[in-house]
Amino acid sequence: MGRRWVFLIGLVGAVWLLGSGHGGQQPPVTAAQRCFCQVSGYLDDCTCDVETIDRFNNYRLFPRLQKLLESDYFRYYKVNLKRPCPFWNDISQCGRRDCAVRPCQSDEVPDGIKSASYKYSEVANNLIEECEQAERLGAVDESLSEETQKAVLQWTKHDDSSDNFCEADDIQSPDAEYVDLLLNPERYTGYKGPDAWKIWNVIYEENCFKPQTIKRPLSPLASGQENTFYSWLEGLCVEKRAFYRLISGLHASINVHLSARYLLQETWLEKKWGHNITEFQQRFDGILTEGEGPRRLKNLYFLYLIELRALSKVVPFFERPDFQLFTGNKVHDAEKKMLLLEILHEIKSFPLHFDENSFFAGDKKEANKLKEDFRLHFRNISRIMDCVGCFKCRLWGKLQIQGLGTALKILFSEKLIANMPESGPSYEFHLTRQEIVSLFNAFGRISTSVKELENFRNLLQNIH
Ligand code: FAD
Repeated sequence: MGRRWVFLIGLVGAVWLLGSGHGGQQPPVTAAQRCFCQVSGYLDDCTCDVETIDRFNNYRLFPRLQKLLESDYFRYYKVNLKRPCPFWNDISQCGRRDCAVRPCQSDEVPDGIKSASYKYSEVANNLIEECEQAERLGAVDESLSEETQKAVLQWTKHDDSSDNFCEADDIQSPDAEYVDLLLNPERYTGYKGPDAWKIWNVIYEENCFKPQTIKRPLSPLASGQENTFYSWLEGLCVEKRAFYRLISGLHASINVHLSARYLLQETWLEKKWGHNITEFQQRFDGILTEGEGPRRLKNLYFLYLIELRALSKVVPFFERPDFQLFTGNKVHDAEKKMLLLEILHEIKSFPLHFDENSFFAGDKKEANKLKEDFRLHFRNISRIMDCVGCFKCRLWGKLQIQGLGTALKILFSEKLIANMPESGPSYEFHLTRQEIVSLFNAFGRISTSVKELENFRNLLQNIH
């Protein structure tokens, strides 16, 4: 008998036992239990449990993070949605109205954000402006002050950094445009079927270290043969297993959002968005998904922990006195920096942070090779985002992949490890504004998913 059937019979049996009150006066099983009863307790490969994350996120972090993400610095993200798909030609642009993205008019974005040379802090900005001015005047390199030369060298080094996990957009390209993320929220778009499956399929089949002979459970594009997926996954080294779980967690998060902000009603006057319980159950109910749904939700928590740890590690970078959330409005920028630091200190105080030290440990040569593979696979996934046929999904896909890539860069950057111990920041480690905006917005999405799970739990409480 196949694994699926054993699981199904076991689960149905357990539900029947609970529901029929055998062995006592058990209340009947609710839909909430079917989605969430396996999403509790400790997470694999971690010392943290789901309940601790729920409490920490939903009551301490989520409200403040939302406030931060509404600020000008974080709401405008520059993105090139016109980059051609590097892997295949036949992308059908879905043309659905809910997939459209409205870019900003140039006067909507604060000048401080648009300033081409502004990358990091006021000091760095001045140095680069000095350099650019010298270039415009035809000055040769030697005419630049030593300090400027050093800064320019550092920026160039930074831009070509081999630390990067993503292939970022060239934001100087004329095709790159600012998008107001608050006006283009991630929600249900109707992008589904073979086009969407193809993207997920290529990601899992070709970029998650999986041999072709192992079939993913319930994959709509597989032939339905018995699979040994989980024994394969358990046999992998911790890094490769984590890679799969991060992608699966991101996939789950996207699907939580589209279920939470579903198009419920449309009239010629307005559209009503809200929670679609049936959509959520189809994706995450333990019985309907043969146990896959709750596993995927656990992967979402794993992703949360990884991004949370990256944020806690990069606190000294943001604490530097010359770091600003520069938009050109001094008072506002200072307030937002205070809020940012408050959030980061809260994150630092989280008691059960993920320990990334077990990653890429052991034999140096092998570890470096593994890290390189990890980076190449991830970069490939960032390129696949240009093949997503729905612009709204592409926007949020690119942003969340860049955000996760930035988190990985923070966790595994040699510069950060070597030069930025808890005691103090290094000036060799940098994050661009694009990286900062994507890092916090991506984390904001996962944080929203965790909060939405609480909402769904409550909504499903009385449904049987
Ligand atoms: P899919 O979600 O397409 O999944 C395909 C198969 O992958 C499933 O049948 C299952 O076998 C497996 N699978 C599903 N979830 C997981 C998981 N968490 N871990 C491991 N395996 C899994 N739609 C929107 O409405 N709004 C959006 O903003 C949006 N953004 C998207 C961004 C990207 C990058 C992509 C590729 C798609 C996006 N979509 C979005 C589409 C959405 O993710 C689904 O593809 C779509 O709703 C169809 O869902 P489905 O139930 O057919 O299965």
